[in-house]
Amino acid sequence: MRYVFAVAGLSLTLFLSRAAEAQQRGGRGGGRGTAIEAGESCAAGQTEIRPRRCMAPEFPPPSIVDYRPHSTLIVPEHTVKRAKYPAIDFHGHPQGLLGSAESIASLGASLDSLNVRLMIAADNMSGERLRQAMAVIKASTAMKDRVFPLAGINFRDVGPGWAEKAVAQLEADLAAGAVGVGEIGKGFGLSTRKPDGSRLRIDDPELDPIWEACARLDIPVFIHTADPQEFFKPVDYTNERWLELALFSERRYPPDRFPSFDELMTERDNLFRKHPKTTFVAAHMGWHANDLGRLTRMLETMPNLYVEVGAVLYDIGRQPRAAHDFFLRFQDRILFGKDSFQPEEYPYYWRVFETADDYFDYYRDYHAFWKLYGIDLPDSVLKKVYYQNALKITPRLPQTGWPR
Ligand SMILES: [Zn+2]
Repeated sequence: MRYVFAVAGLSLTLFLSRAAEAQQRGGRGGGRGTAIEAGESCAAGQTEIRPRRCMAPEFPPPSIVDYRPHSTLIVPEHTVKRAKYPAIDFHGHPQGLLGSAESIASLGASLDSLNVRLMIAADNMSGERLRQAMAVIKASTAMKDRVFPLAGINFRDVGPGWAEKAVAQLEADLAAGAVGVGEIGKGFGLSTRKPDGSRLRIDDPELDPIWEACARLDIPVFIHTADPQEFFKPVDYTNERWLELALFSERRYPPDRFPSFDELMTERDNLFRKHPKTTFVAAHMGWHANDLGRLTRMLETMPNLYVEVGAVLYDIGRQPRAAHDFFLRFQDRILFGKDSFQPEEYPYYWRVFETADDYFDYYRDYHAFWKLYGIDLPDSVLKKVYYQNALKITPRLPQTGWPR
């Protein structure tokens, strides 16, 4: 009897001391892999399985383009095919679809299926190109009150005499049917040059008369500045947009050839501040949807600033609580827009804005390898974001026939 107890006692002691040892190493399985020092990262090909212990998978790991795990999460799903209220797409690029009666009719059918009542054609049209597009729009009984172009500004040859010509062209384009200016593209700031070869700064004083004319003519200026901040950073494995940057070389802005992200943001903010009577709409939420605190400070200090949500749904939908609060706080300053015209992608926007759904797929893997969540906006805010704010800042749009 005593012998049996003694043996059992010994094995219990052994077991306890092994458990304590394993605990020190980081729990079960902690003895495996390779130790690293505090503050070190695992070597390439290994992952941290316990604190400061790294291990490589037994099988060759898939590349990030092949790894597509199927989520096992089962939660209520509410897909939304049509917007709850008629929407204005402030960031439309119909381009070729304004070329003929047939193509504009197909655009109308797509917009109907999504409940987009009106599209702003932000294709920088001016002069003859604008007149041709307007002729096609006006000839279409179904679409003549549903597509409205913005006018383009030609930023070549900015120097003495440029502003007078640019203002006169803008006035002619407005008379031809344009309802605002834009989309001023990212080339403005990134790459457009002055005749002397220097980069045209966004806040260049030679441009002041055109912005003042926009205030006088009571039209919004829709402007896209820079690109996501990751595009300006090294393309390494800590870059959140590595896959996109590896796919598209033209999206890489190395510092030896381009101004920095913050340099461009500073020039842009100078522009907004310098012309407080001009209404600016920053496309893509000014590329600050990933930093709503920064965007909050801008909207608080620049009452002439509005933001548009195109192509940044991946940032809105990954912070549903913060985004919900932000949209409520700035409900009078946010405009719906989609950018790239892909009818099957709009319902993702409706779902993020209108539902409280959890953890659902985004439409473009290379933008975001994470999932989206609904931000559950109340009806009064949906109406403002979908159409009321766009109507308010664009008096040349048809102001009647909208839900109250
Ligand atoms: Zn655009």
